[in-house]
Amino acid sequence: MAAAGVGAVALTWVDNAGITRVKAVPAARLPQTALRGVGMSPVFDVFLVDDSITDSPHIGGPDGDLRLVPDLDRLTPLAGQPGWAWAPADRFRQDGAPHPACQRQFAATMARRAAEQGIELRMGFETEWIVGGPGAAPAREPGPAYGMARVAEHSAYLSDVLNSLVAQGVEVLQLHPEYAPGQFEVSVAPSDPVGAADLAVLVRETVRAVSVRHGLTAWFGPAVTAGAVGNGGHLHLSLWQDGRNLCRAGGGPFAMTGRCESFLAGVLDELPALLAVGAPSPASYLRLEPSRWAGAFRCWGLENREAALRFVTGAPDDPDAANAEVKCFDAAANPYLVTGAVIAAGLAGLAAGLKLPEPVAGDPARRADAERLPTSLPAALAHFTGSSVLREALGDPLFEAVAAVRAAEAELFADRTPQEIADATRGRY
Ligand code: GLU
Ligand code: MG
Repeated sequence: MAAAGVGAVALTWVDNAGITRVKAVPAARLPQTALRGVGMSPVFDVFLVDDSITDSPHIGGPDGDLRLVPDLDRLTPLAGQPGWAWAPADRFRQDGAPHPACQRQFAATMARRAAEQGIELRMGFETEWIVGGPGAAPAREPGPAYGMARVAEHSAYLSDVLNSLVAQGVEVLQLHPEYAPGQFEVSVAPSDPVGAADLAVLVRETVRAVSVRHGLTAWFGPAVTAGAVGNGGHLHLSLWQDGRNLCRAGGGPFAMTGRCESFLAGVLDELPALLAVGAPSPASYLRLEPSRWAGAFRCWGLENREAALRFVTGAPDDPDAANAEVKCFDAAANPYLVTGAVIAAGLAGLAAGLKLPEPVAGDPARRADAERLPTSLPAALAHFTGSSVLREALGDPLFEAVAAVRAAEAELFADRTPQEIADATRGRY
């Protein structure tokens, strides 16, 4: 670290509102910090997107302290923030026991549960963002969607984003301009469930830091302009057993195995409740509209970009590439809660031997029998609070804290117009 010129280390965790919070330590204090962590109040588990604080049955109030312990295996000097390194942190109680509401350890626990079933998950998040100037409008005259013109307009910026990620050892798969004005996307190679969530944080903070250096603001919120295409936070996943991709090795639909089918059926089954985890903000429901490739319908299909669950086989000579994409999630979500909750839902499907319904081809909006996912946060929250699968997996303290934050944010924005909600949230994540 010293050789890399690192003087400060940012220890981050993501709260239930989806905000990455931090305590920093001098690099010289890293050994002590790795051993004992740094103090941090548990009340952050009930912080809202606007930094106001709610309460929950197990967590809340001014008392108590937790230890924020960095995972040094992920320690990374930040190319976009010279002098800084980053490490994701787990949260422990003063007595050294895991904090029962630690989202990162929840993801690790769910990955272990899958491993006990012989299943290894590979996951990866896509990161979408919209660049803005100081005002409400995108920074410059936007080139067309997916247009090379937009790359030219932002050439130095985008190459700085890419090179910073690569310098940090991030395996970038793609970088491209997206549909909305000023919108871009970067996708990275899959990794284990905790690693995928760590990467989601690292990628976002890198994009943010590089944006600042270029005089731009990066908006990751689900809705930047009400009524327009927003920012997704799609999750890709594949299931592996003994080095074999279960998404592409069997006799089920599109050659997936029975285990893969049951897992995905479990995710589809739980999707209305999962939405309170993966689309956690009132702003999420401004984004989650039909015909925006956001996956607003509770169905699955082969390479169907309007289905909430998109199955992707990849090229015939590349069986490793087959995976499923959960499209209805966005970047307001805590990525650790997302990977853990999706695994919990998938394992429940596996235990029940669920089968997938018929796949849907074409735009579900044109089908009379299409089922919309919940269209508001309170509607998703009602499914969440009724989900025994998610309650059991998250455990009461974490489950209740998440539910409390959702209810409080729904109330916070209940009387605001869509654009007021977008304005209040887009720059917060
Ligand atoms: N921006 C879209 C969303 O809100 C996704 C576009 C895409 O398919 O990449 O999820
Ligand atoms: Mg995209």
